[in-house]
Amino acid sequence: MHTFTVIGGGIAGASTAYHLAKLGHGVTVYDRFDEGQATSASAGIICPWTSQRRNKKWYRLVHEGARYYPSFIDDLERLTERQTGYSKNGAICMFKDKHIQQLAFERISKKKETAPEMGEVKMLSDVDQRSLNPFLTSSYPSVFVEGGAQINGQQLLTALREGISHYGGKWIQKEVDPEKVEGIVIYAAGAWGRELVREPRIQHQKAELLHIEVTPATHHPTPVVMGLGPMYIVPTGANTYAIGTTHEDTESFDVQSSEESKKYLLEEAKKYFPDSSLAIKGMSVGLRPFTRDSLPYLGWATDNIFVINGLGSSGLTAGPVIGREVAAYLTNQATAIQIEDYAYI
Ligand SMILES: Cc1cc2nc3c(=O)[nH]c(=O)nc-3n(C[C@H](O)[C@H](O)[C@H](O)COP(=O)(O)OP(=O)(O)OC[C@H]3O[C@@H](n4cnc5c(N)ncnc54)[C@H](O)[C@@H]3O)c2cc1C
Repeated sequence: MHTFTVIGGGIAGASTAYHLAKLGHGVTVYDRFDEGQATSASAGIICPWTSQRRNKKWYRLVHEGARYYPSFIDDLERLTERQTGYSKNGAICMFKDKHIQQLAFERISKKKETAPEMGEVKMLSDVDQRSLNPFLTSSYPSVFVEGGAQINGQQLLTALREGISHYGGKWIQKEVDPEKVEGIVIYAAGAWGRELVREPRIQHQKAELLHIEVTPATHHPTPVVMGLGPMYIVPTGANTYAIGTTHEDTESFDVQSSEESKKYLLEEAKKYFPDSSLAIKGMSVGLRPFTRDSLPYLGWATDNIFVINGLGSSGLTAGPVIGREVAAYLTNQATAIQIEDYAYI
């Protein structure tokens, strides 16, 4: 049995600690729960197959991540008797016009060959789309991906924390300096990772979400919506949604939401729910950590500090499988993913 100290209790640190503890190792997690922690603020969409990004190493992580989710959640929810908010109600992906819809349908469908967990992929008529969510705009042609899912980051962390404790690990709510810890340290500090790690440089984006109530209410649950460009909408209750997100590159750790973002996101929301009345329920803000190449970094910073960071905009999708794989790697077990591919410095 080995002993590990994990610094950072977002999805990267919590998932790695959970998998290490499950393997029978000693684990202590230190988390100072900074305001702006990305995992709690996340929209939680798990639908990596619709992205146009071509980076193969990135795709490998998110594709394995989405595949791992059902069994990971099943084990965790059974162990802790906690709900994580995981639900698989599909994803509606919208496009500017019918030509792009057709091209996207072909591109997304091809991925089914290696990702059967995507389920059915189909072009939606207006009538089809209305049956999934009657109040969404029909201005944009769309494609439905049956395997699209969502997770609640906060609930997932609560369950992981209990899972870690169930397997004998500890979770301590306080700051710790990784350079003062003996033994193997896993440094998963998200946007705050730059306090220790110089290379790869950890940058972050301030990302804001607008929470709205839509009247009249529709049936629940509804699929997640991947709108035009970076815009997406996730159901958060019977007739409540979060819409986002903004992408502001910043050096600041200020997590106040801005009036400008609120107005911008409300105007976007009106485009997607043109005939509904929208009430603002609030804003939430997270700091999304990324590296220059927007590829997660998994590698040694010093002889005893192993870094997991730069999970970017798909960290909740990849986080569970990253935790499983890093735990196997650090305890000399076989891995399904080549960890060295992500130690690119
Ligand atoms: C608004 C928003 C929407 C998103 N939507 C999606 C989505 O739909 N799908 C998806 O897959 N991903 C999404 N993401 C991305 C995903 O949430 C992140 O990639 C992921 O949560 C990053 O996790 P992390 O553990 O690296 O960092 P974090 O969750 O930020 O956790 C880092 C933790 O480390 C702690 N810490 C730092 N330094 C120390 C120290 N010295 N001592 C103790 N504790 C320390 C911090 O307090 C913090 O709690 C979204 C992100 C945001 C912000």
